[in-house]
Amino acid sequence: MPELPEVETIRRDLLPSVQGRRITAAWVSEQAPHLVQLFPPEEFCRQLQGRLIKDISRRGKYLVFNLDAGLMWVVHLRMTGRLQHHDDGCPDTPYLRASFGLDDGTRLCFIDLRKFGMMWLVDDWALVHSRLGPEPLEAEFELAAFQSLLKRRSAPIKSVLLDQTVLAGVGNIYADEALFAAGIRPTRAANGISKVAAARLHAAIRDVLRTALGDRGSSFRDYVDGRGREGGHQLNVKVFRRTGQPCYVCGTEVRRVKVAGRSTHFCPRCQPTR
Ligand SMILES: [Zn+2]
Repeated sequence: MPELPEVETIRRDLLPSVQGRRITAAWVSEQAPHLVQLFPPEEFCRQLQGRLIKDISRRGKYLVFNLDAGLMWVVHLRMTGRLQHHDDGCPDTPYLRASFGLDDGTRLCFIDLRKFGMMWLVDDWALVHSRLGPEPLEAEFELAAFQSLLKRRSAPIKSVLLDQTVLAGVGNIYADEALFAAGIRPTRAANGISKVAAARLHAAIRDVLRTALGDRGSSFRDYVDGRGREGGHQLNVKVFRRTGQPCYVCGTEVRRVKVAGRSTHFCPRCQPTR
């Protein structure tokens, strides 16, 4: 699933192509009955037509097209969703789930193999998500608040990091990478982590996300950017999907366990149990 660095890369790619453009046509495939939230798809398409795209922002893993009339068109790519801008029509694929014509003749194309992607058209963010946590790359992600939040959670630290009400935009890849960088075993109870280790983790989360953003995201399976190109950070991960390979720091084999149902990768030596 695209996480913060991937969604932010897509946002930056799409912005120059769509900012200031009007949506002249909108289409949602009948094969994607769960794509549009809150509205019937026909109503969603009707309301989008004629709207001006003023800007694109991002909140966690959500792309937010800020339209005129105070409306927000919100897109969550989930597992396999791709949102791409094309000059010459959308790619010929059975997985095209929606397309949006712009007033310069170009198109935004939503392609989604697994069909878990979601879209909203709202005037109030709370209709999309009412309790999203702070943005980890912004000042609102405060160390003291993070430390005291961990003290209140007995769940494994890995599952706490995946909780979008704790932190917006961190998923499986960057939770594993941040825990490795901080030297914390993913299975440890969050409230057993010292203040000093929590501070290391806070810094590691920001560092790992910034580095991945610099690499234009990670393409392990499905992710491509706003122009259909792969990211580069999959070549630079330290533990994610490196099961059985030697740790770059100590040479111990990277191991995989399940935490909260998610594959979790760690170095048993660099990330001790306490
Ligand atoms: Zn190691």
